[in-house]
Amino acid sequence: ATDSIVPEKDRIRVVVRVRPLNDRELENPKDPQTVLRCEGENSIIAEGGQHNRRFTFDSVFDEASTQEEVFQYSGIKRLVDLAIEGYVATCFAYGQTGSGKTHTMVGPGGAAIFRMDTNYRTNNFGIAPRAISYLFDCLREKTQRTNSPYYIRVAYCEIYNEQIRDLIRPENPDPLQVRGSIEDGFFVENLYQTYIETIDELLTILEEGELNRAMASHQLNDMSSRSHAMLSIQIEQDLQGYDDPQEQMTRQGKLTFVDLAGSEKVKASHSKGKQLVETNNINKSLLTLGTCISALSDPRMRNGHVPYRESKLTRLLADSLGGHGITLMLACVSPSILCENESLSTLRYANRAKNI
Ligand code: ADP
Ligand code: MG
Repeated sequence: ATDSIVPEKDRIRVVVRVRPLNDRELENPKDPQTVLRCEGENSIIAEGGQHNRRFTFDSVFDEASTQEEVFQYSGIKRLVDLAIEGYVATCFAYGQTGSGKTHTMVGPGGAAIFRMDTNYRTNNFGIAPRAISYLFDCLREKTQRTNSPYYIRVAYCEIYNEQIRDLIRPENPDPLQVRGSIEDGFFVENLYQTYIETIDELLTILEEGELNRAMASHQLNDMSSRSHAMLSIQIEQDLQGYDDPQEQMTRQGKLTFVDLAGSEKVKASHSKGKQLVETNNINKSLLTLGTCISALSDPRMRNGHVPYRESKLTRLLADSLGGHGITLMLACVSPSILCENESLSTLRYANRAKNI
């Protein structure tokens, strides 16, 4: 019954956020310093001499945009609303390392912000804590109206080198396996899930999860830029005794946030042995995501073969990208001339996703 609410063309929203120049970029002597310019609410211009190129997205957020603005106007609230209705909804952040994915998703410097004083941290919360706080508000309000209880279960994992690690229970014997099917959706077997009742419990999970990610990064070269972090929130409502008797007794929706590995192309010549395998596997998930997005954005291929099975990441995103799910892509870019090529490649990638 839920199939009809979301028109095909609204199944994916693509928004771009341009972060401010950092110190290194500000100090660089190249002229011009910036090559990207936002125009209006949804255009971004890549300025390259006489060959300016305009990209149009569902929304663009410029250097001055705040975390609250991104929350209000990116479309994330609609994703939460639909997840409550029983949809599979996914929000992912794409972009090169240092482009602002974690800042936008979680907060400046990641979850460390949660230890800051209340005002600073709430003003700087990224989209995930804001969305979940909004989710709690919506559910509380709904429960008052309908008397139907709800449950929220959270899991947090990372995909690194095509292996899945539990970030809540890192002692879980890894690697975890992906099970399921395209029809019924895929899931991570034995991934620890915990019920939460307050936003503070979520913040603790994000913070501890990040520490569990960081611990390994002492051994492995900047692991967090090479792994995909996935926070999934299951929303379960007990509708017994309420609503249409035709309605399922329990309604289940899912909201997932994915902070993707850096999209920069790691130069093959610099990678050897183990590192080369890692590079290939990271690229494998991101490349497969790109291939799936391309296939989905082509009306002739859409109903044909989409190679979800070829990577862990795309299997786990299959129900959101291809089924009846909905997706929000946050593409993050630096406006600096130093990042020109990577930013353009992110804009092109995002542009393709728009056609899904
Ligand atoms: P990524 O996760 O893509 O590697 P980060 O989110 O860690 O990048 O951002 C790199 C640095 O830039 C961080 O110090 C972050 O706080 C800062 N930054 C990113 N986006 C913004 C923004 N919109 N406003 C201010 N600072 C930002
Ligand atoms: Mg990051």
